[in-house]
Amino acid sequence: MQSTMMNTPLSLNHLLERAGQLFHGNEIVSRLPDKSLRRHTYGEFYRRTRSLAAGLRKLGLKKGERVATLCWNHHAHLEAYFGIPAAGGVMHTLNLRLSPDEIGWIAGDAKDRFLIVDDVLLPLYRQLAGKHAFDKVIVFPFSGAAVPAEFTDYEAVLAEADPDSFRYAEHDENDPVAMCYTSGTTGRPKGVAYSHRSTILHTLVASLGDFWGLRGTDVVMPVTPMFHANSWGMPYGAVMMGVKLVFPGPHLHPDDLLDLMQLEPPTLSLGVPTIWMSLIQAFDAAQEQGSPNHGRWKLPAGMRSLVGGAAVPESLIRAFDRHGIWILQGWGMTETSPVCTISYPRAELRDADGDEKYRRAAMAGVPVPLVDLRVMGDSGQQPWDGKAVGEIQVRGPFITGSYHAVPLDPGKFTEDGWLRTGDVASVDELGFVRITDRTKDLIKSGGEWISSVDLENALMAHPAVAEAAVVAIPDEKWSERPLACVVLKKGADAHPDALNAHLLEHSFAKWQLPERYEFIDAVPRTSTGKFWKLKLRERFPR
Ligand code: ADP
Repeated sequence: MQSTMMNTPLSLNHLLERAGQLFHGNEIVSRLPDKSLRRHTYGEFYRRTRSLAAGLRKLGLKKGERVATLCWNHHAHLEAYFGIPAAGGVMHTLNLRLSPDEIGWIAGDAKDRFLIVDDVLLPLYRQLAGKHAFDKVIVFPFSGAAVPAEFTDYEAVLAEADPDSFRYAEHDENDPVAMCYTSGTTGRPKGVAYSHRSTILHTLVASLGDFWGLRGTDVVMPVTPMFHANSWGMPYGAVMMGVKLVFPGPHLHPDDLLDLMQLEPPTLSLGVPTIWMSLIQAFDAAQEQGSPNHGRWKLPAGMRSLVGGAAVPESLIRAFDRHGIWILQGWGMTETSPVCTISYPRAELRDADGDEKYRRAAMAGVPVPLVDLRVMGDSGQQPWDGKAVGEIQVRGPFITGSYHAVPLDPGKFTEDGWLRTGDVASVDELGFVRITDRTKDLIKSGGEWISSVDLENALMAHPAVAEAAVVAIPDEKWSERPLACVVLKKGADAHPDALNAHLLEHSFAKWQLPERYEFIDAVPRTSTGKFWKLKLRERFPR
């Protein structure tokens, strides 16, 4: 017997059509370079996106060709998310925080044909132009200034195209729609290509009630860059549900984000932990009498915040909860679309006390539907007992099975077809994943592993500590020992003895305490805003 269901391909074009039909009145707000706000309706988004698709085709874009974007978070980037695939192209988001050399290399590796770039990023484009020749450079006049004559004007492309006569490119659901490169913390960046099918399935799963819980009445502020793992897939979810979007543009300083939250209070926001750490520090500092920002901000009580990309310290979750903001932690990677696990209060935790609630929220969470997850140790697959650790391996319809134009590497994929994530974790009886480290960040001391993540989280719970990153330093006797790099809060003081006493109180054993403390001004950040431990290891080789 055969199923009687239609075999309609899953398609991003469906989400675009749906948005045009159903949500024409809701708003998409973008912060411009001069900090003013620009408003579009979904109706305008729909027409502009179809115009972009028609325009790209007129410029000669053929099926499967890559159109790169070098853009901040704003309405035109959202148009690219849907307009490029609508024309049959593949959107390739370039990370504007990488060096011009790296960006040029990545564009070359992906064979990007066209580029859509913000006018305010033209100085960066000019530095990488010699590394890769795009057939066409389409400049989005984000600042409002006229586009220099040697480039193609994004607005002119849209104005000269006809959205009404545009026809979507024929496609299979497995055709690629977008690609993104890993940040290359281990070796050269590698390309991951998402399909219509993987994107739609990821969007449906991530939007579920216990995860993003997207509602039509939500106001979503994506602080996570749209060039980093597709802003975790939120642009697709937002368009699917027609939710109001508030894009911060290039203004990611905590003061700017707090200002924007006053103007357009979000009900849901997303970003990496370092963003929310600086935001809460700026907010707390403004509460003090005499602060120049005293009384300037209120936090949007009731907001949900999706935080991931790096371990979320329990102290951060508690700090926001005091203001009525709940942090929902997720774990994933560029290779996994990216959402793989989310920490949420399962039914079994209904009666859990407050401490248990925070403890769980500080874990990576449980695997989402369609993701198979296992933990592999030296002795094989590990039990879900909350103790046994090993490498997390995942598989599923929105997890990459290879890298673009790279031979299959057994270091990255197992023989039986699972992705090796390089993250070390245990899983407990309820399926909660607890990440202890990345394989390369683990500290092996006298034959025992010390989790840098656990030490960092405990240190960041000390009232004097703003940020902490722990790395391994070589040791003759123990092979490796932990070095704690600590950033103190403004005006605060803490002696290593006090920090050690605090760690002992947090149930660390004496041998797990840092060998040494370095007090530094700031923890270096990666191109995606995470703590950059490699830089610390270089700075403190011993
Ligand atoms: P990169 O960190 O190199 O920029 P990705 O953005 O793809 O690359 O990041 C994926 C990695 O981020 C994961 O492999 C994991 O190490 C880390 N990560 C993501 N979310 C979490 C989390 N909730 N807790 C701990 N680590 C996380």
